[in-house]
Amino acid sequence: MKPTIITNVTCFTLKPDRHNLTVVKIDTDRGVTGYGCATFQFRPLAVKTMIDEYMKPVLMGRDANQIEDIWQTLYVNAYWRNGPVLNNALAGVDMALWDIKGKIADMPLYALWGGQARTAIPAYTHAVAETLDDLYQQIDSQLAQGYQYLRCQLGFYGGNPTDLKTPQGPLAGAYFDPNAYMRTTLKMFAAVQARYGDKFQMLHDVHERLATNQAIQFAKAAEPYHLFFLEDLFAPDQNNWLTQLRSQCATPIATGELFNNPMEWQALLRDQQIDYLRIHVSQIGGITPALKVAHFAEAMGIKIAWHTPSDMTPLGVAVNTQLNIHLHNAAIQENLPVPENTRRVFAHTPVAQGGYFYPIERAGIGVDFDEEAAAAYPIVYRPHEWTQSRIPDGTLVTP
Ligand code: MG
Repeated sequence: MKPTIITNVTCFTLKPDRHNLTVVKIDTDRGVTGYGCATFQFRPLAVKTMIDEYMKPVLMGRDANQIEDIWQTLYVNAYWRNGPVLNNALAGVDMALWDIKGKIADMPLYALWGGQARTAIPAYTHAVAETLDDLYQQIDSQLAQGYQYLRCQLGFYGGNPTDLKTPQGPLAGAYFDPNAYMRTTLKMFAAVQARYGDKFQMLHDVHERLATNQAIQFAKAAEPYHLFFLEDLFAPDQNNWLTQLRSQCATPIATGELFNNPMEWQALLRDQQIDYLRIHVSQIGGITPALKVAHFAEAMGIKIAWHTPSDMTPLGVAVNTQLNIHLHNAAIQENLPVPENTRRVFAHTPVAQGGYFYPIERAGIGVDFDEEAAAAYPIVYRPHEWTQSRIPDGTLVTP
């Protein structure tokens, strides 16, 4: 095959709305340009430095057709590997190379990979409120938009420490009470089920907020509500507790958005400890490893529900849609509203219609990036408070 020589690599950082976003652009001697999402919103300049200073010199002059070899080269090029900075940078390059390949082939990525496994992928969105009445309002409006699956959360990260009987002089942070969270959420499941019956299926994200044994109690107590899945019951380093959970509870378990290293998912998939794999595609290095882990999961009877939060670019959202249309074991796509400025910078941002994402019928990833528009939105860094989560006595816990 005729080589497609990489002639330039550029990294853009931007904050068009709430989040810092990172984009990689790769130019080639065939006049075809690719874009990828390298967003690690908490450390954008670390990723940009990785791309500009360390990856660009490796990439210049290489054949963009050889994605597998380039991926493996960048993965081991610094000898020490894995971790969110390297992986997100690698993902931006990897997605841009797949974008180029799709554009040369004049095919959307799902078609390039072998075609579609379904008509459209079901979408779920978030219903989050402080009170049940506000939650019902959100659910009503989301059901009217066609959703059949909703992630229901009552209360969000962080409370006022003075409401939680903290000691005097509390340390700064986003406080929550695991016991209150558990009680409130179980009541919410019951109330929502009583009100809506089988009009939709609930999902819920624990976000590692419970102690390990308490988490098992919670999953068992949630069983009668037939959740679509229960997410991040344990922190990744406590996933061995899933062995105990699985022997006594059939609540479907999803996890994976924090994974960086293959060692974090290999045993979980091999031992069928989870039902849905929630990997954040750019956190593991992009499309190339995502296809491989998805096929491994399929062989083990485990479904895919890629993490698709608001802190990724529409390029990343579109990559997930392309994967979800193609992969036989893809189950559902998370959907959060894309704000106005972001939509202005990224043309052809995927939009769910009637509770589904349909195939993207544009070559490559299918989303355009407007460099000039992006220049109007420089990034801003502030220390993140929600990741400084504390329980009432002031102990810092996983966010
Ligand atoms: Mg989550």
